Amino acid sequence: PAKRATGHGKNLWVEFVALAMETKAINLGQGMPDFGPPQHLIDALCDCSQEAKNNQYTRSQGHVRLVTALANMYSRLMGRQLNPMTDVVVSMGAYSILSHAINAFLEEGDEIILVEPFFDCYQPMAKIAGAKTVFVPLRPGQYAGHSKDWVLDPGELEAAFSPKTKMIIVNNPNNPLGKLFTTEELTVVAELCKRYDVICLMDEVYEWLTYSGTKHVRMATLPGMWERTITVGSAGKTFSATGWKMGWGIGPEHLVKHMQTMHANTGYCYPTLLQEAVARALEVETARLGQPDCYFTQLAVDTERKRDEIAEVLREVGLEPIIPDSGYFMMADTTPLGDSHPPAPLSLLFFILPCFITNPDLKISPCSGKV
Ligand code: PMP
Ligand code: GLN
Repeated sequence: PAKRATGHGKNLWVEFVALAMETKAINLGQGMPDFGPPQHLIDALCDCSQEAKNNQYTRSQGHVRLVTALANMYSRLMGRQLNPMTDVVVSMGAYSILSHAINAFLEEGDEIILVEPFFDCYQPMAKIAGAKTVFVPLRPGQYAGHSKDWVLDPGELEAAFSPKTKMIIVNNPNNPLGKLFTTEELTVVAELCKRYDVICLMDEVYEWLTYSGTKHVRMATLPGMWERTITVGSAGKTFSATGWKMGWGIGPEHLVKHMQTMHANTGYCYPTLLQEAVARALEVETARLGQPDCYFTQLAVDTERKRDEIAEVLREVGLEPIIPDSGYFMMADTTPLGDSHPPAPLSLLFFILPCFITNPDLKISPCSGKV
C-alpha cells in the first residue's frame, strides 16, 4: 500500500459498530438518533423520486436547488450575501467536506492545530495529507461540571501557532464536550489565524443543537474571518438523518473552489435525489427559522429535555455529568466508579442523548455505562 494508506487502519467507529453487533450492546458512542427525520423531508424524497431528472447525475459542486437553498439560509445566518455557485460545496457527509478541506490546503510537513478533545477523523485525515498535528487542549476549570468550564489557555493556543501552521480545526459546538465557544474565545482564535495567515476550518455540524440560554456564534461572521473560514455543515445532523451522509462547506470562492476540485475528482457528485429532497426541506425550514414550529427549534427543545433527564439518571447512579450546552453527547466523570475503571485523571464516558431516553426499558447502572 501507499504510505498514505498505512498507519491508520484502526477506526474507532468500525470497531465500536462491530463490537455492538457482536455483543448486542446499545451503541451509545455513535451520534445517531433512534427516530426518523421530519415527515416533510421523507415526503420530499418520495415526491422527487418520481421525477426522472432527479434520478440522474447532477452538478458536481452541488445540485443547483440545494446550493441555492443553502446560500439563502447561510446568507441570513452569516449576515452576508452568499453566491450559491462559488461559496458552497456539497459532498458525502461533513466527513468528506473535512477531508476535501484538509487535502486541498495541507502539504507534506505543514502543521494543523487540533483542539482536544476532538472528533476522531481529524487526525487520520491530517496524516493522510502528510501534515503534522499540533494539539491544544480544552482544560477543565476548577469546577468542570459544565461544558463551558472547559477552556483554551490563550498562551498555550498561541504557542501552538508557528510559521508552518496552515490550518486550525475548531469544532463548535464541540463533540464530545458539548462546549459552545463564546465570541471572546473565538476572537482569540481569529486574531491568531489572521496574524499567522491560517485557514480556520469550523466544524459546525451541531449548529442547531444548542440549548436554552446559549448562542452559537459563527467564526465566519467575526471581523476579517469570512475570507479565511470554511464552515462545515451536515444534513445528517440538521435533519436527524445521519444515514443520508450529506455535508456541505460554506466559504469564500478562493477557498471553496479548491474543495470543489477535490470533490469533482473523488466522487464527482453527491446523489441528486437526496440533494433535491434536502433542498426542499431547507426551503421550508428557512422560511420559519427561529420560530417555534421550525424543526431546528423543536429538535433543540426536545434534545435539551433528554439532556436534563439523562443528567439526572447519571447523578442517581453516582456519576458526575458534564452538562453540555449543545450537541448530541454528554460526558461524565467516572472516577466514582472507583478501581473497577482504568485509572485516569478524569475518566469520561459519553452518551448519546436521543437514543437513550426514547428507550423506556433501558436501565443504566455504572456497569451498563461501559461500552
Ligand atoms: N463532525 C463532527 C463533530 C461529528 O460529530 C460528525 C458526525 N459524527 C461529523 C463531523 C460527520 O458528519 P457526517 O455524518 O455528515 O459525515
Ligand atoms: N460518534 C460519531 C459521531 O460523532 C460517529 C461518527 C461515525 O459514525 N463515523 O457522531
